Order: sequence, then structure tokens, then C-alpha cells
Amino acid sequence: MSGWLRVAGLGPGGDAQVTPEVRASLDVATDVVGYFPYVARVAERPGLTRHGSDNRVERDRAAFALEMAAEGRRVVVVSSGDPGVFAMASAVFEALEAGPAAWRDLDIRVLPGITAMLAAAARLGAPLGHDFCAINLSDNLKPWDLVEHRLRMAARGGFAMAFYNPRSKARPHQFARTLEILREECGGERLISFARDVARENERLTTVTLAEAEAEMADMRTVVIVGNSQTRRVGGYVYTPRFAAQESAG
Ligand code: SAH
Repeated sequence: MSGWLRVAGLGPGGDAQVTPEVRASLDVATDVVGYFPYVARVAERPGLTRHGSDNRVERDRAAFALEMAAEGRRVVVVSSGDPGVFAMASAVFEALEAGPAAWRDLDIRVLPGITAMLAAAARLGAPLGHDFCAINLSDNLKPWDLVEHRLRMAARGGFAMAFYNPRSKARPHQFARTLEILREECGGERLISFARDVARENERLTTVTLAEAEAEMADMRTVVIVGNSQTRRVGGYVYTPRFAAQESAG
């Protein structure tokens, strides 16, 4: 039997948001590779080996998965949400680029999942209903200056924004700085939503204005959504209209 590699997104949390395509690949896999908590979401069964690894070893993990596929195994690399959004898909292609030429003939496919931003937006209403962008606030893989620059440009461009990895223990001050920049660029009335543990137990959704927002409202289990200048509340929902007038800054 010839091997293959799938890079699959498990969605934000619940089994209901795992796609049938991802489920089917897991049902026939011999090996699952990924960060411990994500691998733990795949049920044990005979014939399946689960390889959980620590965070921050994405390239090694990807090379290990490619090696196993080259040996004829059916390997699924799992990410939470979508594998192409700040996750394992790019790490697999980086390892493919750096690895032996023979790996390029492997049967590799990326299977999409529901990313945290879209799951959160759906729970809130439609805050991303017009043009939007997604920014990873972690400076592990890029300089902090670039994060600040992109934030300002996105705000000035009038985009709604989703922030991944907003605030970790290792860099507690950067999210406070993020809020400062947003207040400067968007004013205090702009809506900001904190969606924690979306589609998991203890899901928590909080929407406030930028003036009311505090850095402590975000952590690494939170995806943050900032509306554009038109984003508003209706009943218990937050939504952004589909139309936009000409405007200078967001
Ligand atoms: N590939 C993932 C993102 C990985 S980066 C995806 O597509 O969703 C990790 C960040 O994603 C977290 O710091 C958090 O900002 C966000 N995140 C992932 N799952 C989440 C969930 N269930 N609820 C809220 N935020 C989540």
C-alpha cells in the first residue's frame, strides 16, 4: 500500500465542526501527528498511532510526518481550526522544500477546517460581513515592528480585523500596546469582541468598545475581532453591513 500525507484542520473544538472529509482521512490513517492537545482530539483505535509533540517544533514534526508517508504510512498532520491559518500546512511545505527531492512525489493534500475567526464571527453574528483581514499578533516568527505596522495599515484601510495569538504569558505587554494603537487609529467607540474557547466547553463571548477594552480580556485561547467603522449591534448580535461608503481612515 502506498503512503500519503494529509494536513487536516480539526475545526475550533467540537466534533460537529470537523468536516466529513477530515473525518474520513482520520478513519483510514495509520498515524496522526501534531501538537499534544490536538492529537488528543482524535479517538484512539487499533491500527492508529498518535504522535503528540510539543508546540514550536513544527518543522521537525512536519519532516517526521513526511518521512513516515515516504515509508508507506497513511499520515494525517492535525491542526486546530484550518491548517493553512497560522498552522501546520506551511510548515509541511517548508519541510518539503528543504527535504529530499523524492518527497515531492508524495501524495500530499491539505484538508480545510473551520478557522477560529469564522467560528467566532458566526457565534457573534456577522462582524466580518465586509472586507476584513487576519493578523497573528505573536512575534515568534516576525518582528514586533511589523505587527504594529500591519495593524496600523489594516486600521487605516478600513478593514475589520481578526487577531490570532493575541496575548501570551511570555509577552503580556504587547496586547496592551495593540489596544493603544487601535484606539489611536479607530477611536474609542469601535466595537471589539473577545471570543474565548469557541465551540468548546466554557465558550465565552464578550463585546465592548475599544474605550472599554482591557488587555486582560484576551489570552491564547481567545480570538479577537475588531469591527470596521460601520460595525454595530442589533439585538444580541454584532454585525457589519455589506456596503461601505468612501471613507478615508477606517
Ligand atoms: N489554525 C488555527 C489557528 C492556530 S493559532 C485556526 O485556524 O483556528 C492559535 C490561535 O487561534 C489561538 O491563540 C487563538 O487566538 C485562536 N483559536 C484557535 N482555536 C480557538 C477557539 N476554539 N476559540 C478561540 N480562539 C481560538
